[in-house]
Amino acid sequence: MLYQKLEDKKVNCYLCARKCHINDGGTGFCLVRKNNDGTLFSLNYAKAISAGVDPVEKKPLAHFNPGALVMSIATVGCNFRCQFCDNWMISQEKEIAGNPLPPEEVVKVARDNDCQGISYTYTEPTIFFEYAYDASRLAHEVGFFNTFVTNGYMTAEAVKTIAPYLDAATVDFKGGGDPEFYKTFSAVPSVAPIFEALKEMRRNNIHIEITNLIVPKSGDSLERIKELAIWIRDGIGKDTPFHLLRFHPDYQLSSIPATPIETLEKAYVTAKEAGLNYVYIGNVPGHASEHTYCPNCNEVLIKRYSFAVTRWNLTKDMRCPVCGQNIPIKGTLHSSGHSLPYALF
Ligand code: SF4
Repeated sequence: MLYQKLEDKKVNCYLCARKCHINDGGTGFCLVRKNNDGTLFSLNYAKAISAGVDPVEKKPLAHFNPGALVMSIATVGCNFRCQFCDNWMISQEKEIAGNPLPPEEVVKVARDNDCQGISYTYTEPTIFFEYAYDASRLAHEVGFFNTFVTNGYMTAEAVKTIAPYLDAATVDFKGGGDPEFYKTFSAVPSVAPIFEALKEMRRNNIHIEITNLIVPKSGDSLERIKELAIWIRDGIGKDTPFHLLRFHPDYQLSSIPATPIETLEKAYVTAKEAGLNYVYIGNVPGHASEHTYCPNCNEVLIKRYSFAVTRWNLTKDMRCPVCGQNIPIKGTLHSSGHSLPYALF
């Protein structure tokens, strides 16, 4: 899907913003799309390298079907080269490894594990687009929702194609969206396509939540966080949940310490002052900013501990019980009985 044939058996892939030109016999930057005799093939179709059952809060999604369980799946490959990737063993895997798991099986396994939706996650779902697309269509047929956890580096055409089946997207920024940070640590030449993809998601009515990984020193500028928060406020809306994520040492950046809590708290205040109504700190279980507060009267509306919803304090029509403020939560509260993620393979 989403490529055009050129002369001399070359192809131009426009699935993600890299828009690779690939010669006959070659693969794209993601290493999972190959030009075979002038036709572009997805090498990782239905080859799941990882699958698990997660609370939707783990994605993170805080304002979308709270408490729901999702079947999470991933294949190998990625269109980024993040030096801090915490799933680098599968995202940067050069062999097309994985267990055969056709879209029909994805839906069946989700149903067998009492999930309400399917999440395409752990690695970048854009690069296993056809697999995610087919599973999403089947998932909708049986009443499941679909969510992407994505770096957002996809073309508008890709967003429009998946939009009829994509209910929610968690779009992950790093370093406050600083272009230099992306070039240095992720080998990404420009951040502009991410903002374009976000606008396209908004136009297509996909529920959006945004994360920002705060890497100490190189990616913790409060000025950048303020700029990103203002862009979200004006471009997507002030009710967009914004998650500030703690960095943990990993992969090639294992010598950098975890983000200090104080840095995260300063970023939290900065994003709130920029006008965002729902800001969260992630990867710090037990922190008070895991909860949802009423932006009007500050009442605690949803209490969480890590990925679990521990108290629900909203009216049936999703309003603050104290002041009546409408709280934008998509879907309904689910009490699936599980709070911990578990791996299937
Ligand atoms: S999906 Fe892969 S082949 Fe296509 S443009 Fe992106 S990196 Fe290149």
